Amino acid sequence: MNFQGLQLNKSLENSLNALDRENRMPHAFIISGGSQKSRGELCDCLSAWAVCSSEGEKPCGECKNCKNAFERVHSDIYYAKGSGKTQIYKAEELKEIVRDASIKPNQADRKVYVFEECDKRLPQIPNQGILLKTIEEPPQDILFILTCENSKTLLETIRSRAVTLNLGDGKKTSEQASELSEEILASMLKSSEFELLKATYKLSDRFASLETLECVESILADALCMQTGYEPKGAADIAEQLCGTLTKTQFLELIEITRSAQLKVNQNVSLELISTWLCSQYRKTVR
Ligand SMILES: [Zn+2]
Repeated sequence: MNFQGLQLNKSLENSLNALDRENRMPHAFIISGGSQKSRGELCDCLSAWAVCSSEGEKPCGECKNCKNAFERVHSDIYYAKGSGKTQIYKAEELKEIVRDASIKPNQADRKVYVFEECDKRLPQIPNQGILLKTIEEPPQDILFILTCENSKTLLETIRSRAVTLNLGDGKKTSEQASELSEEILASMLKSSEFELLKATYKLSDRFASLETLECVESILADALCMQTGYEPKGAADIAEQLCGTLTKTQFLELIEITRSAQLKVNQNVSLELISTWLCSQYRKTVR
């Protein structure tokens, strides 16, 4: 398999290579652990593998199928959308997917269905149950990809039918994301709205934005922890400042806003809109 520059650990690469070489690729993958960004990257690589039309090593990254897969615009790859504020994958959408799974692919040899962040968006009952039969007895040419922080949130019967790729719990945040998240939080405490807008406008691409927002959320959670007298290990300095300034209600609201922003990024809402929205919501809470 061609991992397109992804930094996976060797044992994960070896197992994927073996599955591919021996034609034993499963009909369902669960990608767990790591960061949301790394799960998304591996997910894109596997979906491209599934649709790639190259005769050589897949995904080639060059053919039209690969390009569309990496841009997430391939007509045979369906990204479950979810609905409502929490972006839950609702029964109606899942039933539609089950129906659609029996129809042949359009352009590629396979169809892919992607369900991201299943711990938050795919409740076990009854929603996972709707997918169960299709995952147990999949039509030919189908690949399901489910991503989650912790695969234990998935039904045992789903886990046993899928190959789980665990990216490990080394949740390392890139320097860029931690710097920007601290900048956003620090400008939240300043009186000028412009500073905050300037900071949120630095959310420039989808994956980096998700990583930054996850980081903002975790610093807010640390600061909230500190207020209850518990000192989280390795908390950022900004957490201490926030802790001394904001109330518990404000923290909870800010965490909620940050989570909604992550969902908006996942829904492909324009980053410009998200930045403006985020700034106004943060300001409303911290005034
Ligand atoms: Zn290709």
